[in-house]
Amino acid sequence: MYLYNSATHKKAEFTTHTPGRVEMYTCGPTVYHFAHIGNLRSYIMEDVLEKFLRYEGYDVHRVMNITDVGHLASDADTGEDKMLKGAKREHKSVMEIARFYTDAFFADCAKLNIKTPDVVEPATNCIDEYIKIVSGLIDKGYAYLAGGNVYFDTSKLPRYYIFNDHDEEDLAVGVREGVEEDTNKRNKNDFVLWFTKSKFEDQALKWDSPWGVGYPGWHIECSGISLKYNGEYLDLHCGGIDNAFPHHTNEIAQSESYLGHPWCPQWFHVHHLNTTSGKMSKSSGEFLTVSLLEEKGYDPLAYRFFCLQSHYRKSLVFSWENLTNAQGAYQKLLRRIAALSPEGEVDEETVKAYKEKFLQQVGNDLNTSMGVTLLYDALKAQANDATKRAILESFDRVLSLSLLEKADALRAEQAKAQTATADGGITITGEGDAEIDALVLRRAQAKKAKDFAEADRIRDELKQQGIEITDTKEGASWRRV
Ligand code: AMP
Ligand code: ZN
Repeated sequence: MYLYNSATHKKAEFTTHTPGRVEMYTCGPTVYHFAHIGNLRSYIMEDVLEKFLRYEGYDVHRVMNITDVGHLASDADTGEDKMLKGAKREHKSVMEIARFYTDAFFADCAKLNIKTPDVVEPATNCIDEYIKIVSGLIDKGYAYLAGGNVYFDTSKLPRYYIFNDHDEEDLAVGVREGVEEDTNKRNKNDFVLWFTKSKFEDQALKWDSPWGVGYPGWHIECSGISLKYNGEYLDLHCGGIDNAFPHHTNEIAQSESYLGHPWCPQWFHVHHLNTTSGKMSKSSGEFLTVSLLEEKGYDPLAYRFFCLQSHYRKSLVFSWENLTNAQGAYQKLLRRIAALSPEGEVDEETVKAYKEKFLQQVGNDLNTSMGVTLLYDALKAQANDATKRAILESFDRVLSLSLLEKADALRAEQAKAQTATADGGITITGEGDAEIDALVLRRAQAKKAKDFAEADRIRDELKQQGIEITDTKEGASWRRV
């Protein structure tokens, strides 16, 4: 596949250190609160990427951390520890908070058909690994002790800014509004590898280390976990675009300095989901979670569909109206698939030709909206229904929209509704919604019993929901307008 690489600012053919095998790493969530649907946009797109690589035939080994320590309110080592903030908010221990929100994260992922990575490792499980790397960095002269903490010395690197040609002053921590400068740092972008002195005395989790009792900085956990499970040569590193600086920049700095050779050549960054008023937030405005989508009657997979319709390298604006449109399109697509008969012989040649088209088009920098377009093309293919279903099933191994599963459920519902109603001598045909079938049947029965007031009442009620009824010889049929 061809993939844009943030490290080279170019689209290039994806390659791996070991042929046929992908060592992939994803920055996991900070489990101090529920994930918002912006966070989940990143995980959806990374999930599609992993599945696409598998679809191409790669053996993918994917690792993800769970940040349960060390992530401060600002990515640049300032502010309160996010986990501690979560624990205080809910009057629970840090570990209780971590467990609860880790489970909540994977429950959300399951609803969005996001596969769990092969390795999921909480940061607090790998303290020895970080101590080993930090010690190595001190020995090699890349790190220094100051004011009780261990810092990485960014001036030791010939090229620190990997992803952008940043103006150093723009990014300098000390010049950010409201952020106190850490006077221990020799250079503005130096970052903490190990804290022993923190601004908050009540840091819950602490470990013994050669530099005193303390806890790791946020960046070191991803290097430590990746080196432990992916090995010294990582092929592909993923995260949201906000992670590029300083988090990924610092990961590269410490990993390559420690290893003494290049570490990860390909970097995949998902751009942000924003609201119409700007940045997505967990603390102000509407906190957009998967549960909220469900409460409002949306299928989480309609949100996945919404994400797939746009490119991961463009920021995306979320609004309820946009989601409503995506849900409408997704349901309509399911109804079209439900109308396909599973009987008949699959034409494997046609399936293969479509699969090649998918590989080529989606393989152009993970063009998921083209993948969605190809679903509609498959429905229009010069082929029988069984072949169309086989094509859709194949594409859905990457897109993961539960297309056949949901369409089959819809078919079963339609069949059930028809038999049930036919028993009373009245047949209702519709678009596969048992509740609406039942109402339409009640109206037909009322009409038969000459209770026209009740029949009209039901017709009006359904009209309000956008349902149009047509009387037929056998009973009635309905459709959404
Ligand atoms: P966090 O839980 O804050 O560590 O973030 C988890 C992931 O979500 C990281 O990869 C972030 O880069 C990503 N992320 C944060 N905000 C957004 C957003 N609005 N849209 C897309 N991804 C985001
Ligand atoms: Zn990370």
